Amino acid sequence: MDIMDESKVVIQQLKKVPNSLSIDMLRLDLLHPVISGNKWYKLRPNLEAAKNANFNTILTFGGAFSNHLIATAAAAAQSGFQSVGVVRGLDAETTLNPTLEACKQYGMKLHFVSREDYHKSKTEDFLATLQNLYGEIFVIPEGGANENGRSGAEDIGNMIPNRYSHVCVSVGSGTTVLGILRRLTIEKQVLGFAPMKKGKYLKEVISQHFLPKHLPNLQLFDQWHFGGFGHWKPELLDFMNQFYLSETIPLDMVYTAKMMFGVFALIQQNYFPEKSKILCIHTGGLQGNISIRSNLCY
Ligand SMILES: *Cc1c(COP(=O)(O)O)cnc(C)c1O
Repeated sequence: MDIMDESKVVIQQLKKVPNSLSIDMLRLDLLHPVISGNKWYKLRPNLEAAKNANFNTILTFGGAFSNHLIATAAAAAQSGFQSVGVVRGLDAETTLNPTLEACKQYGMKLHFVSREDYHKSKTEDFLATLQNLYGEIFVIPEGGANENGRSGAEDIGNMIPNRYSHVCVSVGSGTTVLGILRRLTIEKQVLGFAPMKKGKYLKEVISQHFLPKHLPNLQLFDQWHFGGFGHWKPELLDFMNQFYLSETIPLDMVYTAKMMFGVFALIQQNYFPEKSKILCIHTGGLQGNISIRSNLCY
């Protein structure tokens, strides 16, 4: 399953870092404009498993702005699969937003489920209904959060050179940070940034798939949520514009902007010891900026 040119991924040093610290960024966002960042690594083993088991159709879940949904739609199309997206919190009459419109352009069939019914959408009954509608389907959970996704995310961990003391990454389902933690040695500090309110519960979720001896290395921060998942404040957009002007790196509003805001806030608090070597992972997601594009200088 090699539809991607991984030589596009680079490690870029940031120019403007206070307190004589060193920060590099692993630019997974450069991989592909839509199948961006971490999403590809979680999808690849899932698509391989689907191919090996002779499935023609991939089905997955997501919200209306989901990076995972659009990445699945594009990756499925490029690998010769049909795809179905179960979309949370909308009905079929809703005008499609740009993310869902693009999913449709990639040939994804959209199946709308109300918020109330969405929690039922993972039950056997509901899957049987979907099978009646769409035939034999290979199901990938929301966020690619299955063992295939977790082992695929280990490939991101394998890209991290040993010289770093701290690795920073955004946390949604926790799948990516888990894959990374599995590949790092015990002395590395891993900082996870949750972009939603009360995101600290994710540590529990992550620990279910991990050896307890490694968990002390994971610090989870959830204070830089800016009002909740997908929410923003002008201060965040100012930060994104300033960051772009000094580094020429575009951040996405949902995940990586909140992470980098948090990293700089931690620097101000003298969180990082002298001579720390920090690697921040740019997990992509730039398609999600479309709703705020007029506020951005990129
Ligand atoms: C989905 C996503 C994440 C979160 O990844 P998980 O594996 O679900 O924790 C982080 N950053 C970006 C840009 C994403 O699209």
